[in-house]
Amino acid sequence: MSVWDVFNGKTRFLEDNMNVDKFVYTLGHGYEKFFNGLKEGKIIASKCSECGVTYLPPRIYCEECLSEITEFVEIKQNGVVLGYTIQNVDKDGRHLKEKVIWALIGFNGVRGGIFHKLVGVEPEEIYVGMPVKPVFREERKGSINDIQYFTKTV
Ligand SMILES: [Zn+2]
Repeated sequence: MSVWDVFNGKTRFLEDNMNVDKFVYTLGHGYEKFFNGLKEGKIIASKCSECGVTYLPPRIYCEECLSEITEFVEIKQNGVVLGYTIQNVDKDGRHLKEKVIWALIGFNGVRGGIFHKLVGVEPEEIYVGMPVKPVFREERKGSINDIQYFTKTV
């Protein structure tokens, strides 16, 4: 099914070329706090002062009560695996010698989470609810890769 089918042939379009040699995407206030926090070795979330919902990555407006959020908090507790997938092939379809585990990491009392690599865990031992902690790089630059990986807590 194409877009043409969805709109029953009523789609209007303009075909042209757009020359773009540099694309800049601003982080926005919430993500700026998040990435600056990573640079300091911290995971920063935002907390709604009206209803108490905490968001990761940080939001600047509450999805629950629509209030502006101005409070940012550091998440210090360990995370838990909310879901995971095991990568067997690379982006070109070649089989990997070692499987890579990717997990959605959540934190107690926090809405949202971080999708990241899990290291030090065998594929057969991972489970939803497994406690994990971040391992930060020594040299950080304000990137999601400032977290080198998550690993099990014990
Ligand atoms: Zn709220």
